[in-house]
Amino acid sequence: MADTALINANIITMNPDYPTAQAVAISKNRILKVGTNRQINRLIGDDTKVLNLDGKTVVPGLIDTHIHVADYGRCLMWLDLTTAKSITELQRLLKEKAAQTQAGKWIVGRGWNQSCLKRMPKTTDLDAATPDNPVILYHETAMICAVNTQAQKLAGVTEKTVAPTGGTIDKNPVTGELTGIFRDSAASLIWQAVPEPTVDELLEASVLACQKISAAGLTSVHWLVLSEVEIGIIQKLHTFGRLPFRVNVVVPEALMEKAACLKTNDPSVLRFGGVTIDVDGYLDSKEAALQEPYSEDHGNRGKLLLTEEALAVSVAKVLAVGVQPIILAMGDRAVDTALKVIEKTPPCNVRFRIEQAAVLNKDLVKRLKTQKVIVSIQPKVISTEFSVWSAVQRLGLERASWLHPLKTLLDAGVTVVGGSDCPMEPLSPFLGVQEAVVREAFPEQRLSAMEALCMYTLDAAYSSGEEDVKGSIEEGKIADLTVLNADPVSVEPGKIKDIKVELVIINGKILIV
Ligand SMILES: [Zn+2]
Repeated sequence: MADTALINANIITMNPDYPTAQAVAISKNRILKVGTNRQINRLIGDDTKVLNLDGKTVVPGLIDTHIHVADYGRCLMWLDLTTAKSITELQRLLKEKAAQTQAGKWIVGRGWNQSCLKRMPKTTDLDAATPDNPVILYHETAMICAVNTQAQKLAGVTEKTVAPTGGTIDKNPVTGELTGIFRDSAASLIWQAVPEPTVDELLEASVLACQKISAAGLTSVHWLVLSEVEIGIIQKLHTFGRLPFRVNVVVPEALMEKAACLKTNDPSVLRFGGVTIDVDGYLDSKEAALQEPYSEDHGNRGKLLLTEEALAVSVAKVLAVGVQPIILAMGDRAVDTALKVIEKTPPCNVRFRIEQAAVLNKDLVKRLKTQKVIVSIQPKVISTEFSVWSAVQRLGLERASWLHPLKTLLDAGVTVVGGSDCPMEPLSPFLGVQEAVVREAFPEQRLSAMEALCMYTLDAAYSSGEEDVKGSIEEGKIADLTVLNADPVSVEPGKIKDIKVELVIINGKILIV
């Protein structure tokens, strides 16, 4: 008999043998049966909890393959300025936050926009609202920040400070005084003065992030760790049963030994899964390594952070630990370097993954397929590349047409998996699905909703070698399910992002979201 049964549902199984079903029965933490209401009714006993879903949609528990959980938590603790419609309102929000913050402690905010505020905030605006705390407030793009006098003092920035390459420090054109606005790389002059959070602060932030992530319908994440302290936090959350989803821990090479010491009660809940190796930098800062120079910057081809030989050494170290090498390579020259190393690596059980493989070409796609390399992308990043800064201008039309060619990759048989890159981009997996489906730049690369959903379910499970236990709604698999108020496959594509999560079932247990 079933412990739980979901009936009268629209179940998207992600199993090609029976793509949809009406009902599902769960016994303990596993899926007992998937089928029609009639078939599942036979498994309903006196003690079965029956959920009549009344036509609601059920998908496999969603998986985010690229999220920075602790960093997201930090952002959640920041002052939210997205609703501020004037400088006065921004000052009111800032005053409220200052009243709850110890004097001398930094206040970090995010989300303002000068068109909503009617003008850029100034140092004097912030000084008036918060005389006792250093303040740094990030613009909604996170590329610009507004700061007060205390923040400038603590950062040691004066009118004489020279902006770093690629950054601007705004000054009053008449008096030469700082206005409090720091752009692009100059924002880091202030940010570096903000102290790292304490372990307890980061733990509290991570707990908050975990709640939001679970409520977004995610039952598994690939947690990309940025600092050593996060490993301790993950361990604590796991040991005390505070992780509301499964975690595949991914760390940079420097933290590999620490991550290998993680103790897990159940590897399907917590596992050390991969190590990131950076081969180049970002396209927006022209640091991605290209075969040919950037179109608007002749002579600049970006740069490789590792030679082929150095990458081979790093990959071998990761393989020796038995986890997945996750190679961060954006430009075509970096992807080529990664592939050269993969091509020379003796056959092994580990699946290679290239993160953010952005600028591709016909030859690279073919080699990705031949080597069975998984491509991990964050669909929201694609629209940022074309809208926030112009990928076409930076790469030229021909190369830009090969920027994240998702459809071409899928048609060639390459496995592509999806993630958010939260907090750099929003958390919502449905926003990610929508971006892949409605993509405006080079619409021939749009995916169907089913293809996009597969990036967050079955293929995401494949990317961590767990497709036998999760990623689809099939008998014997772990009962991780997400219940939605609408069907992402049949809803109008522009409304996929508005889909609400009604219920999450993880390991057979119902979580109220
Ligand atoms: Zn990231």
